[in-house]
Amino acid sequence: MYVGRFAPSPTGPLHFGSLVAAVASYCEAKANQGLWLVRMEDLDKPREMKGAADTILHQLEAFGFEWDSKVIYQSKRDEFYSDTLQKLKQQQLIYPCTCTRKEIADSSNQVGIDGIIYPKTCLTHPLKANAPSAWRIKTSPTLIKFNDAIQGNIEQHIADQVGDFILKRADDLYAYQLAVIADDAAQKITHVVRGADLLDSTPRQIYIQQQLNYATPQYAHVPIASNHSGEKLSKQTLAKPIELAMASQQLYDALCFLGQNPPIAIKDASINEIWRWCDSNWHLSNIPKIRHISVQS
Ligand code: GLU
Ligand code: ZN
Repeated sequence: MYVGRFAPSPTGPLHFGSLVAAVASYCEAKANQGLWLVRMEDLDKPREMKGAADTILHQLEAFGFEWDSKVIYQSKRDEFYSDTLQKLKQQQLIYPCTCTRKEIADSSNQVGIDGIIYPKTCLTHPLKANAPSAWRIKTSPTLIKFNDAIQGNIEQHIADQVGDFILKRADDLYAYQLAVIADDAAQKITHVVRGADLLDSTPRQIYIQQQLNYATPQYAHVPIASNHSGEKLSKQTLAKPIELAMASQQLYDALCFLGQNPPIAIKDASINEIWRWCDSNWHLSNIPKIRHISVQS
């Protein structure tokens, strides 16, 4: 059984870059007679744009995507994430940390792939009294390896390249890395197809899965769309929302971006016809093995 998913963060409406991830995960699920689920990753309330979750679902619907089960909202699942964190706590795999950003910056000059490597201060020193605490996972010096269906073999020493990372923030928000593995496991996701901006996060997710004895899905990271300055298309880089009036053209462009070589005539076809073309012509193996492709934004 194949279970795939699309997990947008409602920081703004879908733009071409997020459409690409939606199309890739959808076509791959359909090509495998699988289910395709939508999960709204709305944990980070401060970064959320009001109304964007509904806008995203309407956009998906208008473009003809059909999801197989009720949409789940991460913002309603705190208790579930708390249980997951508890399991790690029972195994003494996590520890509280009261360091501020500044204290960490002042106490370490080791920079990893995702910023400063936390020097494990709170593991060996008493916590500050009356300070809010984050929770970090202890990383071990094992090499995490996986075979990405697009990007090939990936290896990462998370202890050296990332360090003990946060699962729950001091402001009480659960971190993406915790929520994503908890939900992928709960929804029995077998295949994750998403943007290559998350390739570097995948070893962290596999590490948590291993600690909890969860199955690791098969991962496939598609190139991300960036603008001419090499920045990922996003609300911050002022990417234009996708629009229904341009649906066929934008689906066509997304399929070209994903190396599928759709016939030019499809640009003017109905979205139903485009999806029908995908049913018999989609091949994951045609997706270019690169992390970024620049597009007109
Ligand atoms: N919510 C994440 C994003 O929009 C995607 C998470 C994932 O697919 O694992 O970038
Ligand atoms: Zn600390």
